[in-house]
Amino acid sequence: MHTLGRIYDLYDCIVVGAGPAGLSASLFLARYRRRTLTFHHNSPRNEYAHNVHGFLGHDGISPAELLARGRDEVTSYGGLIVQGCVTRIEQLSNDHFRVYAGDGDEGSRTFDARRVLLATGLRDLTPDCPGFREFYGASVHHCPDCDGYEYTEKRIAVLGSGTNTVGFALRLLTWTNKITVITENKDGLSQDDRAKLAAFDLDVRDESIKALDGDVKSKKLHRVIFSTGDALECDALFFNLGTEPASNLHEMLGCKLDEDCGLVWVDETRQTSIPGVYAAGDITPHSQLAVVAAAEGAMAAIHIHDSLIPSERKTK
Ligand SMILES: Cc1cc2nc3c(=O)[nH]c(=O)nc-3n(C[C@H](O)[C@H](O)[C@H](O)COP(=O)(O)OP(=O)(O)OC[C@H]3O[C@@H](n4cnc5c(N)ncnc54)[C@H](O)[C@@H]3O)c2cc1C
Repeated sequence: MHTLGRIYDLYDCIVVGAGPAGLSASLFLARYRRRTLTFHHNSPRNEYAHNVHGFLGHDGISPAELLARGRDEVTSYGGLIVQGCVTRIEQLSNDHFRVYAGDGDEGSRTFDARRVLLATGLRDLTPDCPGFREFYGASVHHCPDCDGYEYTEKRIAVLGSGTNTVGFALRLLTWTNKITVITENKDGLSQDDRAKLAAFDLDVRDESIKALDGDVKSKKLHRVIFSTGDALECDALFFNLGTEPASNLHEMLGCKLDEDCGLVWVDETRQTSIPGVYAAGDITPHSQLAVVAAAEGAMAAIHIHDSLIPSERKTK
């Protein structure tokens, strides 16, 4: 962890996570002149992506560049960003939280705040086969909304199983109909699932993947090699294997989860079920896009600021 002295005894807000959601919140909080400390633990969800697509005004920017600019903007308004992993958060009262952070070597240090924003993101469950890391983010993807356009009229392999993956594959029809679903015989596909894919002429392969092969230098995938020795020529692989929260801080705090998707429930002010604890970005329900995460971070900041304004300065 950075050698940040305890600049304030009590911060207005501690932001955990410096991806698009956390940094956007920190930027607004700094502009509200709130005493804000943001923890930056260097593994944003899209660290493997080459370009962030669909972020208005920044379409195609590298994730590292987007976040570096964000950090500069936050600090230019006096926001504090410190590198370190938050390991525990304790609620001392509705208006007082103790945050434990450390990198393991120096042990934990504590920081106190009146509000906490969880912007810790998700981790993707990824294929476990040789070649995956070489192509991930360049020609192996998990998000049709983010990267589908780049494969217009191209050949796509889809890895996943179950009805959910059928829906995922059908969404890719927006850009191409050259789609093959690879189930690896896991969970399987029902007769209805197979019929639905067949209705759109999408092929299904049930063999397991042995490796991904292509031009490592340009990071272009050329084919999926199956354990049978067969190969499927393709331009990209999209996988649909699920996600998990990048941290369990929300569980430690006892935040309620959304019944449908299991992510952190928030109300319209982005407050969780624990008063004083807010959440934004991928760990909350709805689209998992950088631009959405940034917008949610901004919304959280507006409501956090509002919650800290004394009632005598309000009209209702
Ligand atoms: C390969 C890939 C490509 C993508 N491409 C696009 C795209 O083209 N367009 C698009 O809009 N979206 C894209 N996305 C989705 C986008 O990256 C996410 O929606 C966005 O990053 C979510 O922002 P976030 O701030 O909620 O979480 P994150 O970006 O994941 O940031 C959360 C941060 O919190 C940190 N953190 C977690 N726990 C702790 C802790 N205990 N203490 C301190 N820090 C902690 C993490 O290390 C991380 O840095 C892509 C995602 C991936 C994986």
